[in-house]
Amino acid sequence: MPEQVTEHNVYVGLGANLANPLTQLHSAVAALRQLPHSRLLAVSGFYGSKPMGPQDQPDYVNAVAKLATKLLPIELLDALQQIEQQHGRQRKAQRWGARTLDLDILLYANHTISSERLIVPHYGLTQREFVLYPLAEIAPQLQLPCGTSLQVLLSQVPLNGLEKLSNTCS
Ligand code: ATP
Ligand code: CA
Ligand code: CA
Repeated sequence: MPEQVTEHNVYVGLGANLANPLTQLHSAVAALRQLPHSRLLAVSGFYGSKPMGPQDQPDYVNAVAKLATKLLPIELLDALQQIEQQHGRQRKAQRWGARTLDLDILLYANHTISSERLIVPHYGLTQREFVLYPLAEIAPQLQLPCGTSLQVLLSQVPLNGLEKLSNTCS
């Protein structure tokens, strides 16, 4: 894998609602710690959230992790999808259906990416409480590439039943 010289700070959203979601997220954090050419810098607490889309599925557990990585965005996506597969992720026809593990690239430094496989910042970032609140825990001063501050977004998005479950290490 060609290695970039420059490290970039990235934020990754984690979500799970099947097969003991708390265990899935702890295991996913361990896998992120092992990512090549990357350093895990911070992980938010774990949050319980209501499902988006189909409501006949269990509640979710969500978190956000911060990494410094030399991987290119598409290499990072490949690595994250590999971790999803290792956690039994099955892609189904139904959008936003139940899953053992979902890893989304929320932000990749200040980059804006729009390719067939990758849109960064993640298109749901600005509307999803289960992303914004964990993100604010580890990056309260964050600004999106467009200049919008995370604090402004938080003031516009209600909790919608989001509750903090634990700190990651407990
Ligand atoms: P949502 O994208 O609304 O959160 P989802 O996470 O359930 O829904 P997936 O089935 O996990 O959607 O992913 C569908 C595709 O989204 C992936 O195969 C990937 O190519 C693409 N994708 C685009 N942008 C991103 C991103 N920033 N992070 C992760 N995947 C992305
Ligand atoms: Ca997602
Ligand atoms: Ca995804």
